[in-house]
Amino acid sequence: MDNVLIYYNNDSLLYIIEDLKKLYGLRCFEILRCGERASQEMYDSIPILSDYRNVAKNKYSYAFVISEAPFVNKMVYELHLLGVKTVYILNAEYLPVLNNDETINKIITKFDLSSKPLVGYVETHVYNQCNLNCKGCTHFSNIDNSKAISLMDFEKNMFLLSKFYNVNTLRLMGGEPLLNRDLDKYILIARKYFPFSNIDIATNGLLITRLPEETIKVITENNIALKVSLYLPVDKIKDKLEAFFSKHGIRHIYGNGCKQVDDNVLIRRFHKCLTLEKQFNAKYNCENCFARECWFLKNGLIAKCVTPLQIEILNRKFGTCFEVTDKDFINLETMSESSWNDINKLLSENDFCKYCTPVKEEYEWEIKSSNQELEDYIVGGRKYEKDKRNRTGL
Ligand code: SF4
Ligand code: SF4
Repeated sequence: MDNVLIYYNNDSLLYIIEDLKKLYGLRCFEILRCGERASQEMYDSIPILSDYRNVAKNKYSYAFVISEAPFVNKMVYELHLLGVKTVYILNAEYLPVLNNDETINKIITKFDLSSKPLVGYVETHVYNQCNLNCKGCTHFSNIDNSKAISLMDFEKNMFLLSKFYNVNTLRLMGGEPLLNRDLDKYILIARKYFPFSNIDIATNGLLITRLPEETIKVITENNIALKVSLYLPVDKIKDKLEAFFSKHGIRHIYGNGCKQVDDNVLIRRFHKCLTLEKQFNAKYNCENCFARECWFLKNGLIAKCVTPLQIEILNRKFGTCFEVTDKDFINLETMSESSWNDINKLLSENDFCKYCTPVKEEYEWEIKSSNQELEDYIVGGRKYEKDKRNRTGL
């Protein structure tokens, strides 16, 4: 009988475990909890293990991973270290939006870890500017002068990514991806290279009801989901959005897995953590950073988060001197073969993490489409500008 491991980091496990057993005929399995929580937890007299390093190697024929998209990266890598060859990944943020007649295998994808290393989650821009222009946008979209990524560059990125890796979730985003008039073409390219991946589009939602018919058709025919970020303006159009989604049958979630727009989950606060000097403990920052597995693809490079690959925009706008080195990304263009070591590099702290404060500075979310200042993005930015004026005498 196959030994099976269920590896989860999400409380939804206990609600779906009976469905998992039924759908996949599971009889003999063990459960591993990602992170440090609750080593005393039990499921139906089965103890829940709490650290993958205490799990026997080469024991499991296959494993189920239950997690929200970005955090799949580390879990999959640990399963690879345990010698697991086949994983079934359940994208937990889509659980609340399954229809009554749909079973959980609709949101489970199977991958063979022995064919290629697996990227659990990666995001990439299809448009750089945004129609919302949030103050302090972490993608620097409100100070970016460039617009769409060319179709040729996008296809090259997709080709390189698929050459070396399988991908569980590929997120197309921006800026605001729906500003891209050729979005349908980008979707078709993404689906061509990743026929079995979970592909979604992260949007602020404001342009959804104006999507052209052709793009709607491509979205539905290619099983693409829309992930609507819950900024305050979404609240005003929520009824129109719901009517649109039900008319076109588009798979969608709000925020990180809400079925509806609810006043309680709207984004009212932003935060910043970037400073101007490499002064902090990179390992500590990385381990405690919510963006640590939001891997970002741009120009054939993948970094562990968006900041190193977008920081040139800030440097250009404000004359800052953030430094990015080849320790901060993997380069698909110069890569000769697929390697789990590169996955490990993305999971580990990078040099750029030294720029981030471990304590984030919060501020009220607001729109800022002009007169952006360095302090919108930088902890202690005003002090820096004052110091610079003193230094340069301007
Ligand atoms: S919605 Fe706001 S945070 Fe998101 S890309 Fe646009 S400006 Fe940036
Ligand atoms: S650079 Fe490192 S610490 Fe800073 S946001 Fe990115 S992953 Fe987090």
